[in-house]
Formats: sequence, structure tokens, C-alpha cells
Amino acid sequence: MTDRTPAIDERRLWSDLMALAEITDTARPWTRRSFTPLFDQGRDWLRRRFAEAGLAVRLDAAANLFGRLEGSEPGRPVVMLGSHSDSVPSGGRFDGPAGVIAALEVARALRESGRTLRHPLEVVDCLAEEPSDFGLSCIGSRAMAGLLAPEMLDYRGPGGERLGDAIDRVGGDTARLAGARRSDVAAFLELHIEQGVVLERSRTDIGIVTGIVGIVRLELVFLGEAAHAGTMPMAMRRDAGVAAARLVGFVSERAQALAQLGRGYVVATTGVIEVAPNAINVVPQRGRVVVDVRAEDAALLDAFVAEIEAEARRIAEATATVVERCATLSRATPAACDPRLRALLAEGAAACGLSSLSLPSGAGHDAAFLSRVAPAAMVFVPCREGRSHTPEEWAEPAAIAAGAATMLEAVLRFDTQAAG
Ligand SMILES: [Zn+2]
Repeated sequence: MTDRTPAIDERRLWSDLMALAEITDTARPWTRRSFTPLFDQGRDWLRRRFAEAGLAVRLDAAANLFGRLEGSEPGRPVVMLGSHSDSVPSGGRFDGPAGVIAALEVARALRESGRTLRHPLEVVDCLAEEPSDFGLSCIGSRAMAGLLAPEMLDYRGPGGERLGDAIDRVGGDTARLAGARRSDVAAFLELHIEQGVVLERSRTDIGIVTGIVGIVRLELVFLGEAAHAGTMPMAMRRDAGVAAARLVGFVSERAQALAQLGRGYVVATTGVIEVAPNAINVVPQRGRVVVDVRAEDAALLDAFVAEIEAEARRIAEATATVVERCATLSRATPAACDPRLRALLAEGAAACGLSSLSLPSGAGHDAAFLSRVAPAAMVFVPCREGRSHTPEEWAEPAAIAAGAATMLEAVLRFDTQAAG
């Protein structure tokens, strides 16, 4: 092989992405759920493609799939690129697979150019990034961060199967789960469709992610007293529906105010609102809301959640109800992307003649977990109307190739600039 400048092959990248997409539940495209026979088929296909690209293929103890190219300097830490190949039910062809195939294309471009990096390069398909039937997301990247706790392996899925058994069934070895934890990664890069409209609306080629939001899900239940809607005077009511509604208003207004502070991205959504008995002529006895709060800044996220809890108590007092339940259902801390990798991505985009901007990620990603154990960053590419988790999800071939080229440039720069 002669030494040439490594270049992304857009046609090859696209045809691989479309070929992987064809491995779908045909009754509801595009569906390839983790732990299903289709997921295994997708992985068999990926293994073949990795091997054909000259990558050494292996699964780790958490059933993450890797293809590895050795570097020229033994003992150097790994440059890792990738995303996930699983989908939500009736999802798209790009959320996840675009990042896996783009990573594969970067490895192929390097190998074909005859250029050997100083660092080993690993392409990864992280296991089960989407919320699986076991009620857990980012299973593989969680394990690489050492955060797949033993009790999580006992979560039950379809037919009562243990998560640990399911991981072993798809090639993992959960008896040796600690072996999946990584401390040898110098850099992790993940390409992903934006799943939003910022890039498309600003006609920008590349998004460089500043950070991945932390997410807290808070359940609050107000308890009042059911009463006749006609005979109970207003002043004597204990209306749990009113309490819940006031909280919904507070969450939205406060999030809008916090978003103006300049302390990063903040959003909050009350997506679950229930009243009981939910009858037209009855003052609600019970009001239940579940709030999803997201922010880039960890301190701001915690402070906002504490404010919501305090406001709930104030509202209860004002409405003569009580806060019967106030519980954190889940909590994920924000993950900042590595400033040096972000700068390399920006340089890489510019070198390719591409426009770029910085933006936060309002959705969770494998990179959030990898960032616990390695410098990590993300490349976003535009997708049509921001639509995702739907069969209509779409990204242009050239847009994905531009993202892959940006990643390739960043990898080359990282590899040359690394100390030693
Ligand atoms: Zn994804």
C-alpha cells in the first residue's frame, strides 16, 4: 500500500448504512431492538464488515462490539470512535448506526491510505444505548465507565429474563464485568445525528457538542380531598388538580427564566399529569406529575430540582393539600465534552471547508458515560426537520460523510499532537 491522504468514501459509507438498516423488523421499519435475534443479525453483519476492513473483532464482557487497528507505538492508549446499532421500536436508520458506520469508514480510510496511527484505533458498537426492555439505557457504555452496578444485572426483561443473562446471551461475560471498564482510552469521539433543528435552520454542516445534559426525573403527588363540584364552596376546597396545575406552570416558567442566565442549556417538561378521580363533577383528590429536568450545569440542575420541591410544598400549603410523594425516579449527571477534542473537531471541520458551531446535546448518548473515564466529544450532523425516533428520520449522505471527514481530521491531529 502506498501512503496517501486518508479520505472518506461517501458512497461506501452510505451503502453500508443502508445495508445495516435493511436488517429490520419488516412489519415496523426501522426496528432493531437490543437483545433480539435481529440485533444479533445486525451485529453479525457488522462483525463481517469490521473484519473485511482489516479490524480485529472482539466482544468485551459487557457485549460491546469492537474492531481494532493496532497503532505503531505499542502501549499507547486507544482512540475510540463509535455509537450504537440498536434502535427504538419503529425508529430511524441513523440514530446510532450513523456513528458506528462513520467510525468504521474512518478506520477504513486510514488503513487504505497506508497510514498507521501511533495510537491503536477502536471502532465500537456500544450495547443497548436505547432504553431496552430491561428499563435501562446505555448498558454497554455504562459498563465501560464501571457504572453498570451489580443490582442492575438483576433487572428483569421479557419473560422474566435477567439483564445479566441477556448480556451473556449476546456474547458478554458478566461474571467478569469489571474487565469491561476502560482506563486505556485517550479519546472517544461519537458522531450522531443532531435530533434537533439548530444545524438545519442555521445551514451549518457540523455541530460540535459542548456538553450532554444531566437529566433528573421527579415524581410529585399532591393529596387533597374529593368533593362535589357543585356544592363545595371555593374557599373550602382542597383541590389537588389545582396544585398539580400550578406546579406545571412553575416548572415551565422557571425553566424559561433559568435558560436566560447564560449558564448553559436548561429545559424542563411535565410530560405526565394525572388527576384522580378524573371526573367532570368531582374536585380532584389526587394530582400526580412527573417532571423531566435537563441542564448542562450540574449545580444549576440540582438547584432547579430543589426549587421545584420547595415550590411544591408552598403550593400544597396554598391549596390546603399535602405533598404525598416527592421522589427522584432517575438521575444522570451532566457530561462536559473535552475542550481539546472540541477544538480539534473545529479545526478538522475548517480543514474540510465545513462550517461548524457549538451546541449542547439535550439527549443522552454513550459519550456521556465514556466521558467519565476518558476525554470525550461529539460531532452532530444535521437531520431533516430534527425528526428522530421515527421512520421518517433522515440525514443526507453528504452530511454524514462530512461528519466522518471531520472526525478523521480530528483523529489525525490528535494522533500527531499527542505527547511523547
Ligand atoms: Zn442514539
